[in-house]
Amino acid sequence: MVALLLALACSPRPRPLPPGDPSRPDIVLISVDTLRADHLSAWGYSRPTSPFLDQLAAQGTRYAHARSPSPWTLPAHTTLLTGQLPWTHRVTEDRFRLATSTPVLPEALQAGGYRTGGFVSTLYVSRIFGFERGFDRFEDFGIHDEKRNLGAKVSFDRVVDEALGWWAEQPAGQPVFLFLHTYDAHYAYEPPEPFASRFDRPPQPGDARYKNYFHYLDQPLDPDQLQHQVAQYDEAIAWIDHQLHRLDQRLQQSGRTVRWVLTSDHGEEFGERGSWGHAHTLNAEQLHIPLIIAERGGQSLPRGRVVEGTVGLQDLAPTIASWVPGAGALQSEGVVLGPEEPPERAFPAETTRFRSNRVGLYEGGLRLEWNLLDDQAWLYDLRSDPAERTDLAPQLRDEVLRLQARAIKLAGQPWVVEREGVVSSKGSGRVLAETVGKARSLGAGQRFQVLPADASLYFQPPGEARAGPFQAPSGAPQGAGLRYEGEAGPGGVELDESTRKALEALGYIQE
Ligand SMILES: [Zn+2]
Repeated sequence: MVALLLALACSPRPRPLPPGDPSRPDIVLISVDTLRADHLSAWGYSRPTSPFLDQLAAQGTRYAHARSPSPWTLPAHTTLLTGQLPWTHRVTEDRFRLATSTPVLPEALQAGGYRTGGFVSTLYVSRIFGFERGFDRFEDFGIHDEKRNLGAKVSFDRVVDEALGWWAEQPAGQPVFLFLHTYDAHYAYEPPEPFASRFDRPPQPGDARYKNYFHYLDQPLDPDQLQHQVAQYDEAIAWIDHQLHRLDQRLQQSGRTVRWVLTSDHGEEFGERGSWGHAHTLNAEQLHIPLIIAERGGQSLPRGRVVEGTVGLQDLAPTIASWVPGAGALQSEGVVLGPEEPPERAFPAETTRFRSNRVGLYEGGLRLEWNLLDDQAWLYDLRSDPAERTDLAPQLRDEVLRLQARAIKLAGQPWVVEREGVVSSKGSGRVLAETVGKARSLGAGQRFQVLPADASLYFQPPGEARAGPFQAPSGAPQGAGLRYEGEAGPGGVELDESTRKALEALGYIQE
């Protein structure tokens, strides 16, 4: 055991870092992909998954209730680096890239005199999607050359070593912004030993047979498999925590003042709601993310603080930019997180991944989840039920309608229900069309449309190529805004009588 630990600690050692500038703290932004907050000991988890992060949280600010607006990697990271919600940045499918006219955080910090390095470990944060913009050095370890190879990833020790090697080359006194992304807590949770057997039995070759996103739907894991699955996830977190501790030690040895921002893009489900993984729902397991902000080697940020008010991933880019005099402007929808309590706000979320089509809204303690494919809705009171175990939608139907109307009004862009949704909605567009009818009645107007089954969908701002690597329509005509081609969509929609009466009573529709 000792030999193994020594071997891990002695993996390739970068050169010492140069001294920094105490008046301009370095900034390290870390995204631990797929890390749900409630599996960190700092958030009360029973296993000691994160001794270093617990220490970091105790020396800085822990945001107990941080939310992602998206349950999957590409939209969430676009939010992280722009401060824009998915409804605004529109990078919601893997055929879209961020518009180059939208400023990103590393560009803003470059303008403020920072050297910027980005070191990432999966396709969805790689240069395929334009994530290299604003970085003096951007390293995705060649993943961008492996198109469609979603399994390609780089272990976090290599990410950390590469980043430290780059940092060591920077001039003395030069402030640095470092963005690190790790994929090790993402499926298939394969940390090295001794972490791989820290909380449960060692991995066995046969484990792979149930480590599949879609296995769970057909063949729920037996209790032993589920226990092992969760243990492997926790062991992966412990491995990442170990690497972060190693990073921190290197930074402390240099005597630099470093501001840490530790977060995630989304969480992970382990059968709590009959499914597994992420991207397909907006529940707490997927959207409650950790957030820690702490300063090491300096005293200018609060210590030992816990913020209970809700904050969002969209707040991080404007907050970090606010620390740097002369930083370039962002077009963020977030707020700057400072010493005061965060303001009460609405937190929208959405996903169209894996043929889902869901909209969520958290506001005033209540959280709505709305499945646009079948118009089913769920409502949770997070003040009394933070784990979202009790669905109040059947009893609080007026609240559901009120929050659906709020969600529609908050959406600044057209909502599009794609043709796949029509096809997959119980074999016809009927149920989906009712959803659309209700959305229109609630204030969406014609922005909310069902596309005809033969439609071709594309989105292109004027004069700008925005296609991602997996775009579907080839030869789509140039133009502005959202368009579709094909015959006219479904005709008029009839709301059922009880829904109509409820809407009338609430003043959302008028006869
Ligand atoms: Zn992710």
